[in-house]
Amino acid sequence: MTDASTNPSQEQDTLHRRGLMFILSSPSGAGKTTIARKLLADDDALHVSVSATTRPMRPGEVDGKDYHFVDQAQFDAMASQNEFYEWAHVFGHSYGTPKGQIRAGLKQGLDYLFDIDWQGTQQLYQKAQADVVRVFILPPSLEELGRRLVGRGTDSAAVIAARMARAQAEISHWDGYDYVVINDDVEVCFQKVREILAAERMRRTRQTGLIDFVRELTRG
Ligand code: 5GP
Repeated sequence: MTDASTNPSQEQDTLHRRGLMFILSSPSGAGKTTIARKLLADDDALHVSVSATTRPMRPGEVDGKDYHFVDQAQFDAMASQNEFYEWAHVFGHSYGTPKGQIRAGLKQGLDYLFDIDWQGTQQLYQKAQADVVRVFILPPSLEELGRRLVGRGTDSAAVIAARMARAQAEISHWDGYDYVVINDDVEVCFQKVREILAAERMRRTRQTGLIDFVRELTRG
C-alpha cells in the first residue's frame, strides 16, 4: 500500500496524487494578478514555473529563480528539441516554459500556477491536456473594466480605447476555459478559484495512490 511518508510533499493523511497545471487567464483589468498572488501566498503546494528567456538579466534577478537566462542559440536548440510547452517572442526577446522541471514536479505531486493569455493556454492544453485546469476571470461589467483600464488619468482617449479593445479581444476567448469566474469582489473571486483548485486536486485520475488504496479495501 502507498505510504504517505514516502512523499514528504504530501500531507500525512492523503494518498499520492499527480500534480496539476493551474492556468489563470483574464483580460488586463480583471484582477488575475491579484488572485494569482493570493493563491501563492495561501497555498504552499502551489509553485510557479521558471521560464527560459533570452532577455538580459536585470539587477536583482537570480538565474534559475526568476528565469533561466539562456542565449538565442540555446533557446533555439530547446525549441527545436520540443523542450517547451509553449514559447513566444515578447518585446524582442524569446520566452518559453520548459517541460523538464514541470514534468518531474507533476509526478511528485507538485502543482504549478500559470498566469498566461489564451494563446499560451491553448498551447499548454494541446501538450498536456490531462494535467491542465483552465480558469478564466471576467470583470463584472464593461463599465467597471473601463474604470479599471483608465489608469492614472494621463492617457489619451485613443490609448484607453486600444486597451479596451485588447481586453475585449481577450474576453472573446472565454469559451476555451474549463471554469469562468466573475470578479465582482476580489475576496469572493479568490475563494471560488481556491475551491476549483481543491476540487481538481481530488479528481480520481489525479489520485494515483487510490489504486493501491482501493485494492487494499477490496482485498478478498
Ligand atoms: P519580463 O521580461 O518583463 O519579465 O516579461 C515580459 C513578458 O514576457 C511578460 O508579459 C511575461 O508574461 C512574458 N513571459 C514571461 N515568461 C513567459 C513564458 O514562459 N512564455 C510566454 N509566452 N510569455 C512569457
